[in-house]
Amino acid sequence: MQINHTQLEQVNHQIERLVKADNFYGRKKKEAGIIGVKTVEDFQNLPFSQKQDLRDAYPLGLMAVPESEIVRIHSSSGTTGTPVIIPYTRKDVDDWSEMFKRCYEFAGVTTEDRIQITPAYGLWTAGIGFQLGAEKLGAMVVPMGPGNTEKQLIMMQDLKTTVLTATSSYALLLTEEVEKRGLKDKIFLKKGVLGSERWSPKMRDRIRSGLGIELYDIYGLTEIYGPGIGINCSYDTGMHIWDDYIYLEIIDPETGKNVPDGEYGEIVITTLVKEGAPLIRYRTHDISRIIPGECPCGSKHPRIDAINGRSDDMMIIKGVNVFPKQIEEILATFPELSSEYQIRISHLDGRDTMRIYVETNGRVNFLDMADMVSAAVKSRIGFTPLVKVVEVGVLPRTEKKTKRVIDERYD
Ligand code: ZN
Repeated sequence: MQINHTQLEQVNHQIERLVKADNFYGRKKKEAGIIGVKTVEDFQNLPFSQKQDLRDAYPLGLMAVPESEIVRIHSSSGTTGTPVIIPYTRKDVDDWSEMFKRCYEFAGVTTEDRIQITPAYGLWTAGIGFQLGAEKLGAMVVPMGPGNTEKQLIMMQDLKTTVLTATSSYALLLTEEVEKRGLKDKIFLKKGVLGSERWSPKMRDRIRSGLGIELYDIYGLTEIYGPGIGINCSYDTGMHIWDDYIYLEIIDPETGKNVPDGEYGEIVITTLVKEGAPLIRYRTHDISRIIPGECPCGSKHPRIDAINGRSDDMMIIKGVNVFPKQIEEILATFPELSSEYQIRISHLDGRDTMRIYVETNGRVNFLDMADMVSAAVKSRIGFTPLVKVVEVGVLPRTEKKTKRVIDERYD
């Protein structure tokens, strides 16, 4: 999916804006002698932007307009290190809400729907983004925010909510609570619009059947507006990306070169019309691929596959390169296990070790189960992990993104 002429012009305007603002990236462009791009090759030779740059620019170094034009900031949830601050102009907020409205429309949400918003409001872009798009569309918003599952379920019944927006972890928690309390016939949900946290097909099926809803997978990140820059349509053939606002490319994370459409690599995003904090070729570390061809829905917006992992997720255990996705795929071959798991890596007696916690119900012999999972990992990946089997419901369910891989080697 090569960058087209219109998009190249837009990139030139973004570069101009940066240089004129003389902000963090403007100075970098000036030092590198970059004033614009004429060809696809020029574009592919532009330097990448990195999360670390954004940290270096803290707090407002990314601002590319006079401060009087900034109406809001958001911040990415940096659990470690300096957070990242993204300033937005009025137009940026409007553009974001337009994109989000389009997401709801692709999911078939209408003004007749009632949307329960469970992602958090505040510095990060989740709750407020879901709300902006819903209001732009004209649906009724039930702005719950996260947590308080008791109240979520009451509102869901009394207000006859038809659309649930949530992280997939929280959607799973709600699914389990709805089942536990026998509420499935008392709720009116039709659709779920879930954040782009990586999820397994097993977890997706669990939510879909448990709540009896269609699922839509929304993509986005705080650095680039927030959630809402793409979503799958009802044909469910990947997420359509709003290429009138952003240009998305896939690169080989090792070489930095673009890979052919259809091949997996790291998502790199360029904003095309952003004012507050334009980003050129921002490395997301999310792994996906462009889906070649046209979607049966007829939309010309290009598609990417569901997020497959992160390029910085790789672990090295006993000299073997391992991605959490590989472990997840092995676990998925055991129907006795729930969708939840936790991987803990630690360094003991001079060696890296991996412990895998999995859940099953009481009908299964826990020790046999542990041996089977351990043997499967050994035969497929080449090292033997320590597997612990626990009762369903023991592993944490959270309203935010669930942390499934805990690396204790660097604590
Ligand atoms: Zn489509």
